[in-house]
Order: sequence, then structure tokens, then C-alpha cells
Amino acid sequence: MVGSVPVGGDAPVSVQSMTTTVTADINATLQQIAALTASGCQIVRVAVPSQDDAEALPIIAKKSQIPVIADIHFQPKYVFAAIEAGCAAVRVNPGNIKKFDDKIGEIARAASDHGVPIRIGVNAGSLDPRLLQKYGKATPEALVESALWECSLFEEHGFRDIKISVKHNDPVVMVQAYRQLAAQCDYPLHLGVTEAGPAFQGTIKSAVAFGALLAEGIGDTIRVSLSAPPVEEIKVGIGILESLNLRERGLEIVSCPSCGRAQVDVYTLAEQVQAGLEGLKVPLRVAVMGCVVNGPGEAREADLGVASGNGKGQIFVKGEVIKTVPESQIVETLIEEALRLAEEMGVE
Ligand code: SF4
Repeated sequence: MVGSVPVGGDAPVSVQSMTTTVTADINATLQQIAALTASGCQIVRVAVPSQDDAEALPIIAKKSQIPVIADIHFQPKYVFAAIEAGCAAVRVNPGNIKKFDDKIGEIARAASDHGVPIRIGVNAGSLDPRLLQKYGKATPEALVESALWECSLFEEHGFRDIKISVKHNDPVVMVQAYRQLAAQCDYPLHLGVTEAGPAFQGTIKSAVAFGALLAEGIGDTIRVSLSAPPVEEIKVGIGILESLNLRERGLEIVSCPSCGRAQVDVYTLAEQVQAGLEGLKVPLRVAVMGCVVNGPGEAREADLGVASGNGKGQIFVKGEVIKTVPESQIVETLIEEALRLAEEMGVE
């Protein structure tokens, strides 16, 4: 359990992110956590690089609506502070853990006493120099060896309330590392492609890597890392889970890519429908199709749809044509019908 969120076993895959504010700025951090919570984030991580940040943890942990994980490098004293502060978990970095060496037993005892799990967060960029030398670079084997060695340090003290990540910026290396790790241990796994890049590239890398692993049943919680506001990470994370049917799909627009047969401007139509239904929290599949080739078939399969042609749109609801409207009324009709269906489902 990370606070109230189960991670591992048969628990649903959870989505998490990390704040970008200075943690010691309590108001800004809590504001960002509130925005993340509203976007569907289930667990949030905050960086704790200084004493001021450590001192902010009790209020942040208390006021956050979702479990807070303290991310700690270098300073074991902040690990104890985070545990005492009521943080739901602590993440430590193996590149720094040697400095924790004499403290491991104490950390294990404190975490155990407070029921606080620890994430062993191996990262290609901060791999233990010993393993870098042994493998030449951050190979999947090096990442896995590092993670399991770090785990063994805690296991020696009887502590097993652990989850692991082995992040790499190359999705191929990352996928191999997690596959090897899953074969060698039973700990819950936190998936991440580290330094994945700006939104577009990071989304693709994360979707490809998480998709491959989650489809094999590997991964218990995910964090999409983007050089973009953290709320974007949550949107992408939830989208990945929905695409894999690991989470009930919310609003889904099925729209064709358009082609030479299109008789309407599909792009604009799809965008206007999406914008008009933004924020509607309802599992609804809306098909926006450009012509009569695949249009009626897709529109019939969806909850709601339009097959366009000859300046008109045939509107389908639950497989039946309910009306035909001029092109200028397609968007408003779809939105009207979507809201009516949502109301019927009892969703606002
Ligand atoms: Fe082209 Fe029609 Fe298919 Fe859209 S539905 S891609 S317009 S054939």
C-alpha cells in the first residue's frame, strides 16, 4: 500500500506524477497536487533536496488528498523526516545509497514501524559506479543487478515492503530491464522511461514501453516523465491504461484520418466535438467519420456517431440512425446527444 493506494498483486495499475514546485513552497506545491488530483493522479512524489523541503513535508502529507512520496537523494536524515512527517512512501536512489550504508538498518526499522514502503529507484543516469565499470554502461543487466543489490541491503534487515524501478531513457533498454527484473523478483514494479523528452516524444516513448510491458502483465504503477506540466503526464498515463483496457475508457473519439473520399472537414469536426465534450466524465464512444465507406459501420458500433456525406451527417445513437442533419449542425447535434446519453447514464 502506498497510503490508501494498493500497488502490486491484482491491484489496478495506478498513475502517478511528481510536482515541479519547490517543495518548501507549501502553497504552490499543494496547489499543484490539487490540480494533479483533479486530473486523476493517484500518487504524487515531491523532491526533498533541502532541510526547508523536509520541514514542509508534514503539512503537505497532511493536506494532500492523495498519498505523497518523498524523493530523497544524498541525505538519510530526510528519509527519517519523511517517515515521521507521514509521507506514504519514500524513494531512494541507489547511486547514493552507499552513503546510507550504516543507516540502512535504521531506515528499515523506521519504515517498518510506520508501515512506509520504500521505492528503490534505479536510474541509468545515476547508476552505481561499480556497476558502470563492470558493464561499461547502463545495460539492462546492470540496472537489474543494481536494483536487486539495493533490495538485498534492506532484506538483510528483514525489510521487504519495497517496489522497484529501473528507468532508462531508451525504451528498448528499459523494456528489457523490466522483463529481466520481473523474472527475478516478485516486488511490485514502478514503470518509467526516464528523461523521455518533450510531450510528443515522451508520450510515444512511454506509450511504446509501457504498452509492451503492461500487455505482458509487467508493471504495477506508472509515471510518464515529460518535459511538460505534470498534469500532462497524468493525461498520457491514463490514456495509456485506457488504450490497453486496463482502465475503463472515458470519453473516446473514434475519428477517421480523412482521405480523398472525405466529404467533410474531419479534422475540424473531430476537434470541435472533442472540445465540446471536454471534461465529460462518461464512458462514451463517439465516432466522427468522413464519408459513407466506413462511416456508417463505425458510427453504428459507437454509442454515438456521424457518417458524413453530401453536405449532411447521418447521426447514429446506439446503432440506429436517429436523424440526418445539415453539415453545419453536426457538431451541436453530437454534443446535444452526448449530453443526453450522459444524463441517461446518470453522469454529470
Ligand atoms: Fe476516407 Fe471515408 Fe475512411 Fe474517412 S471514413 S478515411 S473519409 S474512406
